[in-house]
Amino acid sequence: MIIKININDCIGCGVCSQICPENFELKENEGISVVISQEESPSVKEAIDSCPVSAITYD
Ligand code: SF4
Repeated sequence: MIIKININDCIGCGVCSQICPENFELKENEGISVVISQEESPSVKEAIDSCPVSAITYD
């Protein structure tokens, strides 16, 4: 399983990094979040489901 953020869809809201800072980091300068670890933390699925634009894929 690979966690990815579609940077064309990400609006940089920071929800994923707030819910799951172990896997996501908001790059405020770039206006997007990035995946910082593929090691699945317990909150990663909640973060994926909470993305308002469904920019995170996990497959
Ligand atoms: S929750 Fe979605 S839109 Fe918001 S920063 Fe994360 S990937 Fe981007």
